[in-house]
Amino acid sequence: MTDYIGRFAPSPTGPLHFGSLIAAVASFLDARAHGGYWLLRIEDLDPPREIAGSAEQIISSLQAHGLLWDGTVWRQSERSAAYQNALAKLQRTGLSYRCDCSRAKLAGNDGIYPGFCRSRDLQVLDNCATRVVVDTDALGFEDVIQGPQSQSLAGEVGDFIVRRRDGLFAYQLAVVVDDAGQGVNHVIRGADLLGSTPRQIYLQHCLGLPTPVYGHIPLATNKLGQKLSKQNLAQGLDNDAALGNLLAAMQFLGQELPVQSFTSPAQLLEWATGRWRRQLIPRQGALSCNQS
Ligand code: GLU
Repeated sequence: MTDYIGRFAPSPTGPLHFGSLIAAVASFLDARAHGGYWLLRIEDLDPPREIAGSAEQIISSLQAHGLLWDGTVWRQSERSAAYQNALAKLQRTGLSYRCDCSRAKLAGNDGIYPGFCRSRDLQVLDNCATRVVVDTDALGFEDVIQGPQSQSLAGEVGDFIVRRRDGLFAYQLAVVVDDAGQGVNHVIRGADLLGSTPRQIYLQHCLGLPTPVYGHIPLATNKLGQKLSKQNLAQGLDNDAALGNLLAAMQFLGQELPVQSFTSPAQLLEWATGRWRRQLIPRQGALSCNQS
């Protein structure tokens, strides 16, 4: 084993579908090909969006596909104390503030927060979100799959939310706290999160946490060109077709395909680990504004 620690971090908002399988396969093969660990974290941060039973469904689908993780499964629903500590640190260092702007007030700003509440010093917590103050420097990083990226948080995102007005912690905060908490140093995930990465790197700087290596795989889309997601009713995977599903995922990721047939997913994954090449993954294009 090397010191590589990767992870797969699904939200339990539906069963594992082809779009999430390719993220699981890419992060798994990248970790294993580097002799690393591959961790599993269930991102059950948002109870209203959760579908009962889907965490267990995702877990059994991963098992059926031979995608076996190391260590115990983390669940974000058990991590509130760690998120609260991070939030307190942002508050102590003057990097966050409360905001009571309504949706209506924010309409028409292209999703970029104009800083209305920055200097209001609101003290109430109820019905207020907490935002982090961003700076005006361009934030650049090297994506190991998509190449160099850059985003101006001030110009393209604005002060962003770390705790929602309904009291739930925001994904951006939780993911950074948990990646650091689990010692994750390689994040391979879908390109829908490419636009979130500068926010996450910024939070790492604010909180004094290390920045992992990031790589974003292209998104699988349906016939209409829409991202495969639970919102677009992407179908859950048939666990009895695991070998075929894995081959389709490898093909999508541009990897070499075997001529011989395999009898188990674990055998196929072992073969694929030995031939994994990041350079073969198709590129999606550089970061553009306002991706979430
Ligand atoms: N939980 C997120 C999702 O299912 C992924 C988060 C991440 O990989 O950083 O879309």
